[in-house]
Amino acid sequence: MTEQKFLPFALPDIGEEEINEVVDALRSGWVTTGPKTKQFEADFAHFLGGGVEAIAVNSATAGLHLALEAVGIGPGDEVIVPSYTFTATAEVVRYLGAHPVVVDVDPVTLNISPAAIRAALTDKTKAIMPVHFAGLACDMDAILAIAREHKLKVIEDAAHALPTTYQGQLIGTLGSDATVFSFYANKTMTTGEGGMVVSKDKDLIARCKVMRLHGISRDAFDRYVSKTPAWFYEVVAPGFKYNMPDIAAAMGLHQLKKIGRFHQQREAMAARYDRELAGLPLILPARPALATDQHAWHLYPVRLQPEAGVSRDDFIVRMAEKGIGCSVHFIPLHRHPVWRDGYQLKNADFPVADAAFEAEVTLPLYTRMTDADQTRVIAAVREILGA
Ligand SMILES: *Cc1c(COP(=O)(O)O)cnc(C)c1O
Repeated sequence: MTEQKFLPFALPDIGEEEINEVVDALRSGWVTTGPKTKQFEADFAHFLGGGVEAIAVNSATAGLHLALEAVGIGPGDEVIVPSYTFTATAEVVRYLGAHPVVVDVDPVTLNISPAAIRAALTDKTKAIMPVHFAGLACDMDAILAIAREHKLKVIEDAAHALPTTYQGQLIGTLGSDATVFSFYANKTMTTGEGGMVVSKDKDLIARCKVMRLHGISRDAFDRYVSKTPAWFYEVVAPGFKYNMPDIAAAMGLHQLKKIGRFHQQREAMAARYDRELAGLPLILPARPALATDQHAWHLYPVRLQPEAGVSRDDFIVRMAEKGIGCSVHFIPLHRHPVWRDGYQLKNADFPVADAAFEAEVTLPLYTRMTDADQTRVIAAVREILGA
């Protein structure tokens, strides 16, 4: 057997353009939030279109916190979240003293179930946080209709959803209160750590801007470039420290320029997995309801069917023995002690998310994978499944 190097589950795709721009930030003397962050925000808003504004933050988690704060979520409020997500979606609700109300997902898409949202509504419900799992848009018509009917806020966790479309419109432009993207290392574009809050609501953006930097009415760069004395500022609220530094925005400027190419590559790799894994005892990831819509393909999640004759855990061990890294998305919220014990959540209350978790494996899918890498992954999956 020839020795093959380990194929990691994910890798960022960073070129000389990003490296040179970061070096430029370092040499410029302005390393924190400044001209590159402003440019990145403008470019991002322009990329999405639809009249949105964008503000850069140091993580999507920070952005979700800011957005919930800006729409007025506070102690005792209830915010509906899917179980099938990363803990960040729920933890930000707790930051504000509100309660995440965890609901089950749709068996086909693994996105939050509109029926489950309706069943969870109480007179304390204030907001819904849809998560576009793996990069596939949630049923936003149904979710926005529930929100209108019950006067609820909608904050989209779009950590997986750049660039995802829903009925031809990019996620971020649908008119929910705010949408938050992540630029964590393994997302569809990266700034190392980082996130973006996007909204058409100018008041919401203004509040997020102030709260992102200690509740200060002017940020350091505004003070640096404006005519009023640079030393003067006023604190108008007890804010946070969530601004994105220019060193990170420098990467984002070039990653964003490449997002079209990145997406084409991901789309082609997903299509190849679909073709070459068809007919195996696997549930392949759901496609958008409209064939013309775009899946971001942040992840390629498959579910082992009982006929596969191998447990999820054993499957991952055997892939690792063949030098291939896999992951699991997600260990659902109701399985984590903090949410399970804190809110008395039971596996049986989330039958879809729980069964999906037991069967789910995320295969490697990223732009630095070669055709030969993908051939290896497909061959390994087929061999383990006895095909
Ligand atoms: C990655 C992720 C986040 C958090 O993003 P950060 O930028 O790391 O804070 C939030 N929600 C989901 C669904 C994610 O996958």
